[in-house]
Amino acid sequence: MSRPPLLVVRDLAVTFPGTGGLRLQAVRGIDLDLNDGEALGVVGESGSGKSVSMLGLLGLLPEQAKVTGSVLFRGQELLGMAPRALQAIRGARIGMIFQDPLTALNPVLRVGEQIVEAIRIHHPGVSRKAAMARAVDLLDLVSIPQPRERVRQYPHEFSGGMRQRVMIAMAVANEPELLIADEPTTALDVTVQAQILELLQDLRSRLGIGLVLITHDLGVVAGTADTVAVMYAGRIVEHGAVDALFEAPRHPYTRGLLAALPTLEVADRPLVGIEGRPPSLRERPSGCAFHPRCAFAQARCRVEMPELRHVGSTWSACHFAETLPPGLDVGTPSPAHAADGGR
Ligand code: SF4
Repeated sequence: MSRPPLLVVRDLAVTFPGTGGLRLQAVRGIDLDLNDGEALGVVGESGSGKSVSMLGLLGLLPEQAKVTGSVLFRGQELLGMAPRALQAIRGARIGMIFQDPLTALNPVLRVGEQIVEAIRIHHPGVSRKAAMARAVDLLDLVSIPQPRERVRQYPHEFSGGMRQRVMIAMAVANEPELLIADEPTTALDVTVQAQILELLQDLRSRLGIGLVLITHDLGVVAGTADTVAVMYAGRIVEHGAVDALFEAPRHPYTRGLLAALPTLEVADRPLVGIEGRPPSLRERPSGCAFHPRCAFAQARCRVEMPELRHVGSTWSACHFAETLPPGLDVGTPSPAHAADGGR
C-alpha cells in the first residue's frame, strides 16, 4: 500500500486579533502540496505571510492566533492535534531550521550536548554515549571539520556559517521526513549562503527529505527548489515549477521580484525595484492587494480579488495573466502611479 503524501495543505488561514473585535487576516486560503524528496520554495517580502503560514501549520504561533483549514502530514491532520502529539512530530518527523542560529542555540551548552538533547527528547531510550556518537556523525554529515573536537565546543566558538550547519545537524538528527527552513541563509554572506544551500540540497537527495524553503529571495530558490509559491499580502499569487515560473512568470509581482535580481548577463543594467511598499496587515488594499504597486492595474483590479488559476504552465492570481506582455516585462507605472510611489 502506498504511503499518504508527505504534506497536503488546504485553505490554510491565520488571523490575529485586531481592534474593535475584528480579526486581521495574515494568511488567506493557502493550498500547498509536497511529496517525498521534493523542495518547495515559499517566496515573498516581509509581511507576506510566508513564515506565519509555516509557523501556523506547525502549531508554533501564539495562542491569540487562529489557524483554520487543513494540514495533512502523511495523512494525519496537524491542525487541532493535541499539543503532546504535535510535539512528538515536530523536531522528530518534521525538522525546523530558523534564520538566526545564535539565538536558536543555547550559548551556555556545548554544541554536542544540544544535539544529544535534540535526539534524546524524542528517543529517551538512546544512551547519552550513543547520542554523542551520533552527534559526531551529524557534525561530519554537515561538513564540520574535526567533529570529535567540535562537539565539545560552545556556539560562540563557531562562525555564523558553522552555527547554521549545527542547526541543520540538529534538524536532521532524528531523520525527519520533512524539513522546514525559514530564511536559513539570510544572516550569512553569499559564499557561505551558497554552501548552506548546497548542503540542504545534498541532504535532501541523500536522505530523501522533503524541503520547504522560506525566503524573500527568488535567487535562493532558483538552484534549490523544484516548485515555488510566491506570496503577497497573505495569499499565494503565483505557483508552479521553478523552471516554468522563471521562464514565463504570469504575475506582475513575480516579474517585479525577478527584475530586482542581479544577473551576470545584464550586469550593467540598473536593478529595477518594485514601486511602493507591501501593505501592512491593517491596510490590505481592496480587490487585488498588489494593485497599488502594479503597472498593469485596471479598474477591475481595485474591486475584484483574482482567484489563483491555471495559466500556461503556472498558476497565477492575476486577472490579466493571459494578456501580460511576454517575458519579464514589468510595465511602466503611470505618472500618477509613480508620483505617489505606487500607493
Ligand atoms: Fe496587477 Fe490587476 Fe493583475 Fe493584480 S490583478 S497583479 S493589479 S494586473
